[in-house]
Amino acid sequence: MDISKQKIDAPCPACGHKNSITLAQVNREETITCLCGQRIQLQDSDGSSKRATQNINRAMTDLKKALKGFGR
Ligand SMILES: [Zn+2]
Repeated sequence: MDISKQKIDAPCPACGHKNSITLAQVNREETITCLCGQRIQLQDSDGSSKRATQNINRAMTDLKKALKGFGR
């Protein structure tokens, strides 16, 4: 599982269409184009999505370590 591939909805400010984007796209602050043609600049202004991605990845790593230890 890669949390950065987690899908989230980015509602279009023009038409309200919920665009399906990934956390990785938000991390890269990509510009997406809505079905209606509106360009949406993804913003991770407070770094919260980056932090969430890192935190969850770390948690997964810890879990894998824990599982390895458990098998011994
Ligand atoms: Zn739109």
